[in-house]
Amino acid sequence: MLTVSKLSASYGAIQAVRGIDLQVKAGSLCVVLGSNGAGKSTTLRSIAGLHRPVSGSISLDGAEISRLPLHKVVRSGLALVPEGRMVVAPLTVEENLGLSAFAGRNADPELLDKVYTLFPRLAERRLQKAGLLSGGEQQMLAIGRALMTRPQMLVLDEPSMGLAPSIVDLVFQAIVALHREGQSILLVEQNAAIALSVCDYGYVMRRGQIVVEGTPDALKQNPEVLEAYLS
Ligand code: ATP
Repeated sequence: MLTVSKLSASYGAIQAVRGIDLQVKAGSLCVVLGSNGAGKSTTLRSIAGLHRPVSGSISLDGAEISRLPLHKVVRSGLALVPEGRMVVAPLTVEENLGLSAFAGRNADPELLDKVYTLFPRLAERRLQKAGLLSGGEQQMLAIGRALMTRPQMLVLDEPSMGLAPSIVDLVFQAIVALHREGQSILLVEQNAAIALSVCDYGYVMRRGQIVVEGTPDALKQNPEVLEAYLS
């Protein structure tokens, strides 16, 4: 289980995240909604060890991870799929998937198979340079690369960004399949309709704070969520 408590994060004088609490239970799929600049990415980057929070605690199965360097966060079982994918353009699909060996594990053929089963398009393009993939394929590769670390907690930052609706569906089908297998997932998403159709629990951020939280059914009926995100 991932537990975030009283997390605050800043960029100089800008307070991007102001004392938020959230939890992702083992095996659940949690979503964080919110408009541009609400602090969602900063929250994820802080959780993943990419941004040092000002205060608060982040624990994974009871172990504090908020002060760990990135590679140790990965080793503790948390993997981030960053906004903008960040695949290594000159390397092939398979070389990108092998990069997770940096986390101290060799690219496991069984895991590679699992990624290729989840995303047959990546299997078809395994020798293609990542920079030549479509945006959707790059998103699949970024998810696949995170899965190669066998994460206990998979954290995704706006996987639908910039993708055509049919590709968003493919990416979300994979997220749902992972969730069904028991993968714990924390997802930041601007597309509230699709996020609320797949999650177990959701949080809504505004100006660095969580302003509403609840089950997807409750959130879909919340007037604030309806007006801001589902109209
Ligand atoms: P978006 O959906 O647009 O990515 P977000 O909810 O993820 O938005 P953040 O990216 O976390 O929001 O930004 C929260 C606040 O922090 C915003 O006011 C933003 O301008 C500011 N911010 C984000 N990154 C930086 C940075 N590197 N330097 C300074 N300010 C930043």
